[in-house]
Amino acid sequence: MERAEGWPGEPWPSSAHRAGADAGHPGELVLGGVGVHALAAEHGTPAYVVDEADFRARARAYREAFETAFARVGTGVDVYYAGKALLTVAVARWAREEGLRVDTASGGELAVALRAGVPGAEIGLHGNNKSDGEIGAALEHGVGRIIVDSLAEVDRVAALAAERGAVAPVMVRVTTGVHAGGHEYISTAHEDQKFGLSVNPGPDGGDAPAMAALLAVLARPSLRLLGIHSHIGSQILDGAGFEAAARAVLRLRADLAERTGTLVEEVDLGGGYGIAYLPGEEALDPRAVAEDVAAAVATVCEELGTELPRVSIEPGRAVVGPAGVTLYRVGTVKPVLVTGEDGATFTRLYVSVDGGMSDNIRPALYGARYHAEVVGRRSAEPGVLARVVGKHCESGDIVVHEVELPADVRAGDLLAVAATGAYGRSMASNYNLLTRPPVVAVRDGASRLLVRRETVEDLLALDLG
Ligand SMILES: *Cc1c(COP(=O)(O)O)cnc(C)c1O
Repeated sequence: MERAEGWPGEPWPSSAHRAGADAGHPGELVLGGVGVHALAAEHGTPAYVVDEADFRARARAYREAFETAFARVGTGVDVYYAGKALLTVAVARWAREEGLRVDTASGGELAVALRAGVPGAEIGLHGNNKSDGEIGAALEHGVGRIIVDSLAEVDRVAALAAERGAVAPVMVRVTTGVHAGGHEYISTAHEDQKFGLSVNPGPDGGDAPAMAALLAVLARPSLRLLGIHSHIGSQILDGAGFEAAARAVLRLRADLAERTGTLVEEVDLGGGYGIAYLPGEEALDPRAVAEDVAAAVATVCEELGTELPRVSIEPGRAVVGPAGVTLYRVGTVKPVLVTGEDGATFTRLYVSVDGGMSDNIRPALYGARYHAEVVGRRSAEPGVLARVVGKHCESGDIVVHEVELPADVRAGDLLAVAATGAYGRSMASNYNLLTRPPVVAVRDGASRLLVRRETVEDLLALDLG
């Protein structure tokens, strides 16, 4: 990926650099050619800023890496952008223009992808508890794949498709027993959780739930079995989990072929590719993981004597996470004397910003760690131990648990948190009735509002009194 001259390194987007000494705001952070002072003046704070070129480059990098690796072993790949990471009409268009398809996980996400002009055939619909309305919308718009997540859902999709005289293309989501990811809550392929159907035998010792669902799909004339789907977790930094999951899925595919004569066309290996959140951290390299997974798929198919499937993957975070930065304004700064575990006391500087857990719930939800910098100016002051906190009525309202900030950080400073492009805006809430921040795209020296800031009028409009 091409980086701006003076790029500060991970976890900043590729266009990020500090303005020179002769700039209007010397030392300010510049994103997509736009300085943070101009961004704050035009769009206010807090604001989600997305580097469009960075997003596009990452989307391309994943598509090209997987296409190249799988072409080499002799099959094709589709890359679905996991829209739940961040979905706006413009973002869905960027994904499509870079040759990606779009995965959705609700009627709302589906509506945004359709509004962006993504053809139904290039959209997937996920969800462990889809409503009839969501399934109906997917059928109406010719969604290319409905990923079914339970035996009951096989019947529901079959009935709704039959009612319409349609044949629904479905994949069955399976769990392979592979554990991977940054946090237990985002590791989705172990057995004791709500997603998917196990490839291992069920409690009654009969067919594995995954096999039972595949057989059930084959038995329904209003369903077409497209393939098998596995998503093993999120923020995965080691490609071995994907290989292990691929093996389990391909074995199930071969077993199904042996029993029924049907060799499903497609295997989806999900998303979860990890990114750098802190300076010095390394992201998963798409080329390396693509090569390893392609090699594993080819080897296992050869061992099993089955033809290669078409493969699909679903990166979300790895495409949009590093492209996004949250821009805040510093308010209250408070030194707090803290007693450590060893009994010694030290000072922690609590730096409050004008947002918090409503625009980034991940630190509170998963203990996620982030990196922050004072970005409106350069400071010659030494660094001090700081904690960036929000303005909500919770002591757990922490944005950055621990970071070194210049000792002169003060009210009015602009502060940016890096790598917030994924699961920031998409998980945002109105807690304390804060209005959700805008999503602003930057590119080639210009900024563009993609989603406007909510207003108090928006909040009042929903309250019917
Ligand atoms: C969340 C999710 C993804 C995307 O995960 P990332 O960690 O953002 O890459 C892909 N597929 C499914 C089924 C998901 O639930």
